[in-house]
Amino acid sequence: LSAKLKGAGALQRAKKKLNVAVIGGGLAGLSTAKYLADAGHTPHVLEAESVLGGKVAAWRDDDGDAYETGLHVFFGAYPNTLNLFRELGIEDRLQWKSHEMIFSLPNEPGAFTRFEFPPLPAPLNAAVAILSNEKLLTWPEKIRFGLALVPAILGGDSYIEEQDDVTVSQWMSKYGVPKRVQDEVINAIAKALNFIDADDLSMQVVLVAINRFLRETHGSKVAFLDGLPPERLCQPMADHATSTSGGGTVRMDARLKSIVPTDDLTRIDHVILTSGERVDADAFVIAVPVDKLKLLLPPKWREQHFKTLDSLEGVPVINLHLFFDRKLNVENNLLFARSSLLSVYADMTETCREYAENTSTGGSMLELVFAPAADYMTASDDAVVDAAMRELERVTGGVVTPSPTSPDAPRLVKSIVVRTNRSVYQANAGTGKARATQATPIPNLFLAGCHTRQKYLASMEGAILSGKLAAEAVSEAEMQLAAEAVSNAEMRLSA
Ligand code: FAD
Repeated sequence: LSAKLKGAGALQRAKKKLNVAVIGGGLAGLSTAKYLADAGHTPHVLEAESVLGGKVAAWRDDDGDAYETGLHVFFGAYPNTLNLFRELGIEDRLQWKSHEMIFSLPNEPGAFTRFEFPPLPAPLNAAVAILSNEKLLTWPEKIRFGLALVPAILGGDSYIEEQDDVTVSQWMSKYGVPKRVQDEVINAIAKALNFIDADDLSMQVVLVAINRFLRETHGSKVAFLDGLPPERLCQPMADHATSTSGGGTVRMDARLKSIVPTDDLTRIDHVILTSGERVDADAFVIAVPVDKLKLLLPPKWREQHFKTLDSLEGVPVINLHLFFDRKLNVENNLLFARSSLLSVYADMTETCREYAENTSTGGSMLELVFAPAADYMTASDDAVVDAAMRELERVTGGVVTPSPTSPDAPRLVKSIVVRTNRSVYQANAGTGKARATQATPIPNLFLAGCHTRQKYLASMEGAILSGKLAAEAVSEAEMQLAAEAVSNAEMRLSA
C-alpha cells in the first residue's frame, strides 16, 4: 500500500511497452506523460497551442514582463503535486509563505484580518487560527459552524461525496449555520476555489478543502512558483517524459481535430490533427478541457457513454495584471478580497522571484483573479481594469486609486488582461457525479484533466493526480492493449 501511495514508484514497469498519444499539454497531459514514461511506456504529447500549460500557460510581453492565464497558488494539501516536484528535483522552486489566511474587511476599507496558524499539529493549529480571530466571526457563530462540520470530520470522504447534491447555502441552512458565516468567510473561499458564488457551488467542493485544511498540519499553507509555470514546471515534466521514455515526444502547435473510431465503433482507430496528419497509437489519453472533450468525442460515444458530461461546463474567469510605478504599501501575500468582483490577489513582486527580479516598471505588480467574470467577458480591457481599480480602492482603503491626486500616490502604468472563456468546470451542486473516470468504456480511450473524477476537484493537484490515474489505467490495460495492437497490425497487413 505504501508503494502505491508514493505514486510514481507504484506504477509497475511495463511488460508491454505501449505507444500512447496524449492529447493536451496542460498539467494533466504532462503528468500522464511523466507517469507513463516512469512505467516504461512511450508517451507522445500533442498540444494545440505554442506554449505548454493550458490553464497555467504564461507569456512575456514586448517589455519582457510576464503574464499568465491565472494567479496560481499551491497548497500544502497537494500531496501529488509536492511528490511530483520532489520526483523532478524542483521542490526548491516553490516559495512558501507564512502559514496564514488574510481576508479584507469590507466594512473597514484598507483593513485586513488574518487567520494565523501556529506551529502545532492539525487540527489544533486550525482550531487556534479560527478561535483566535475575533474580527470575522463571533463565538456562537464559530461554535455553530464547528458543530455543523462534525459529520464531515467523522464521516470522512463518503459523507463529503454525499454533499455533492447540495449547494453551500442549502447545506448551511440545513445545519443551522448562521448566514454570516457564509457571508464573512465561505463566500470568499468558494469564489477562490471555483470562481462562482456559494449559492451555486456544490458543498462537496468546500468540504474537500476544509477537510484537508483541518486534517493536514500544512494543508492550508500556500506557495507560489518562483517563475512562469511553462518554464519552471511544465518544461521539466516534458523533459522527464521525453528523456526517460526512449523515444517519447512533446509537440506544440499540434491540435487534435477528430477522433476516428473503428467501423464497429468499439475503439479508436486513429486520430487526425488539424494539419491533416494522422496519428496512430496503442492507446489515446485525451487531456483537454471538458468543453473541448465534448466536441471531440464521436457523437455516438458521447450519447452512449459520456452523456453525464453534458452538465459540465467551463466557468469564465479573468486574470488581471496591474503594474504600478512604485511599491504599494499593502499586504502582499495571497489575499481574499471579499469583494463582489475580485476573488484573490497578490503583489507578485513580493511573492514570486520572477516578478521581483524582472518587472520592467520597477513597482508592484498586482495579479488578481476577477470573478464572477461572465458579465465582463466581452467588456473592453479598459472597462475591466477600471472596475478592478474601483474595487481595489475600496479594499485597500485608497492606497490604490484609479484617479490619484497626490504626487506620492502610486500610479497604474500598465495592465494586461487575460480572459479564459471556459476555465475549470463550474462545480454546481450535482456535478461531482457527472465527472468521467480516467478509464472509459472504450478500451483504448482514456481521459485526464482536472474535470475527470479524482478527489482534488478542479485544481492543479486534481490535474496532476488525474494524469497519474490515467497512466495507471493505461498500465493496467497494457496486456489487452498490446494484444489489440498486434491484431490490428495483422489485419492491416492482410487487408
Ligand atoms: P488545461 O490546463 O486546460 O490543459 C488542457 C490542454 O489541452 C491545454 O493546454 C489546451 O491547449 C490543450 N488542448 C485543448 N484542445 C486541444 C486539442 N484539440 N488538441 C490538442 N490540445 C488541446 N488551481 C490551483 O490548484 N490553484 C490555483 O491557485 C488556481 N488558480 C487558478 C486561476 C485561474 C484564473 C484559472 C483559470 C485556473 C486556476 N486553477 C488553480 C486551476 C488550474 O489551473 C487547473 O485546474 C489546471 O491547470 C487544469 O489542468 P488540465 O491539464 O486539466 O487542463
